Amino acid sequence: MGFSGKDPKRTNSETDTPLRNDRQKDRDVFFLQTIKTMLLFLKDFALDIEEIQSGQYKQDMDSLSGVVADHNSSQEIEPAFKTQKLRIADFIDRQKSYILEKERELKDIIELLSQAMVNLNVENREIYERVQDHGERIEEITLLDDIKKIKQVLKEEVNQMRLFMTDKQKSENEQISRLSNKVVILKRELENAKNKSVKDGLTGIYNRQAFDEYAGQAVKHCADTREPMSLLLLDIDDFKTVNDTHGHLIGDRVLMAFSNKCKGSVRSEDFLARYGGEEFVILLKGASLRNATKKAKAICKSIASTRYAIDDNPNGETLKITVSIGCSAQRKGDTLEDILDRADRSLYIAKRNGKNRVVNEKKL
Ligand code: GH3
Ligand code: MG
Ligand code: MG
Repeated sequence: MGFSGKDPKRTNSETDTPLRNDRQKDRDVFFLQTIKTMLLFLKDFALDIEEIQSGQYKQDMDSLSGVVADHNSSQEIEPAFKTQKLRIADFIDRQKSYILEKERELKDIIELLSQAMVNLNVENREIYERVQDHGERIEEITLLDDIKKIKQVLKEEVNQMRLFMTDKQKSENEQISRLSNKVVILKRELENAKNKSVKDGLTGIYNRQAFDEYAGQAVKHCADTREPMSLLLLDIDDFKTVNDTHGHLIGDRVLMAFSNKCKGSVRSEDFLARYGGEEFVILLKGASLRNATKKAKAICKSIASTRYAIDDNPNGETLKITVSIGCSAQRKGDTLEDILDRADRSLYIAKRNGKNRVVNEKKL
């Protein structure tokens, strides 16, 4: 400490005088007082942190203050100072490196948070600006010196971010639910559009386009598996007369009633379609020509025996129609056109032979 209580510039004769003794005493008192105050300051300088043993350091400072209070001469105090000097220096080093380390940790946290901000998946301008704003404020924290202030600001920022993320999540959830509703509506519309494109508007059964697609695949399938398949081509007899006699609207209702009757006569695996005008087609998978002809005869008979009531006819008059049917069955190497052609030619024979009958390709 360089603290001996002696003034080296003075001579021995001077120090021996009573005046000199009084001055020396005053000086000693002043120095001791100063040391006591400095010791108090040194004690207060320590942060209350167990990691750097500040409790032990404060106790050391208290006992050193005790030594100073209990002894009057500087020679008596010096040994105590000698032992404490190194411990004080050690503690100051510990506290310095602790603060440096904490500062480094805080900088890391700030860096991490800033990075997290940058990496956020920003979708629109408003969110991007808010994230930027948080990022800039976090960077400003590095300018603060007080750890407590940094902690406080960080806490507020984290809370802000949490609120911001909750808001973002909420709006995203709302958007997702709006989009899912839209998807459901679009799916329904797509389904309707699909149905419209494959179904006939008047009768509600499949149209020719749907038949061509289905039948094309069925022909290939049956050729591969050697499964039998037959086709019925149905044409309502003298339908023009129905229209001419009862009007087009009644003609339409007859077409609807006819398709309903056919629907009721076939199995779910059979494919019924309106082939155009008053012509219909039925594809019977797994059916031989014999069975298909049988089925056609049953339909022909059932149509002929049905009477259709005409609502606006005061006399209770009913309407009767008949149908002619041509039958064909898939043969080896057949295309769909081949099968349709034989059914059509058979139908022609049925018409020529008097209508209201079934003719199969054997008659060709
Ligand atoms: P055939 O016994 O030789 O088949 O005689 P047909 O009168 O049935 O045949 P034709 O080809 O001479 O006439 C078919 C009629 O079917 C003519 C057409 O106006 C009518 N028709 C076609 N599509 C519809 C429709 O959607 N609604 C109505 N009401 N009539 C239709
Ligand atoms: Mg026709
Ligand atoms: Mg006809």
